[in-house]
Amino acid sequence: MKIICIAANYRSHNEEMNFERPAQPVFFIKPETALLRNNSDFYYPDFSKQIEFETEIVVKICKMGKCVSPKFAHRYYEEIGIGLDITARDIQNDARAKGLPWFLSKGFDSSAPISPVFVSKQRFESVQDIDFSLKINGNVVQSGNTRDMLFSIDEIVSYVSQFVTYKTGDLIFTGTPKGVGPLKIGDFCEAFIGQEKLLEMRVK
Ligand code: MG
Repeated sequence: MKIICIAANYRSHNEEMNFERPAQPVFFIKPETALLRNNSDFYYPDFSKQIEFETEIVVKICKMGKCVSPKFAHRYYEEIGIGLDITARDIQNDARAKGLPWFLSKGFDSSAPISPVFVSKQRFESVQDIDFSLKINGNVVQSGNTRDMLFSIDEIVSYVSQFVTYKTGDLIFTGTPKGVGPLKIGDFCEAFIGQEKLLEMRVK
C-alpha cells in the first residue's frame, strides 16, 4: 500500500507557509514504513530539531482504480479517518530553499500516525463538511473543516488516479488547515473528528 499526501490544500495553511495556491492538487507519497498504527508512541527522531504536526482527514481507498472520473470518485472510498502528517520542518525548509524533494522531511519512519478506527462516510451528510481537530496536552491546537479544502476529496481522488493506480487500502492524507506547530517530547496528542476522539499519540 501507499500513502498519498496532498500539500497546500487549505488557503489558511498556505498563508501561514507562504505557499502559492496550486493550480492542480500537489501530492507526494510516504512509504508504508511511515505508518504508525494502534495509537503507538512516536519517538522523536535525532535527525531533526523541528518536528511538527499537521492534522489531516484521511481517506481509505476501497478498490483498485486508474483514471477515475470526478463523477465516480466517491465510489473509490467508503471510510474516513484522521492522521498526522508529521514533518521535519527544518529539513523541509532546507529542501525548499534548495529546490530539493521533500521526501526526507515527510517520509521517515512513523511520520504517518493514523487512527486505529476509520468511520463510514455515510455518517456524514457531506464529506466536504467534516469538523476535525487536534488537542495537545488537553489544549486545542488545530481545528478545521473539510469545506475549506481548495480541492475536494473527489477532485483529489480523480486527479491523483491519472498518474498513480490505486490499490485497496491505499490512504490519502487530504491536507492540513492552519495551525501547524511543533511537537515536544512528552506531548500527548488527541485527534478528533467532530467530538469523537479517534487517535491518540504520545511523543517520547
Ligand atoms: Mg500535510
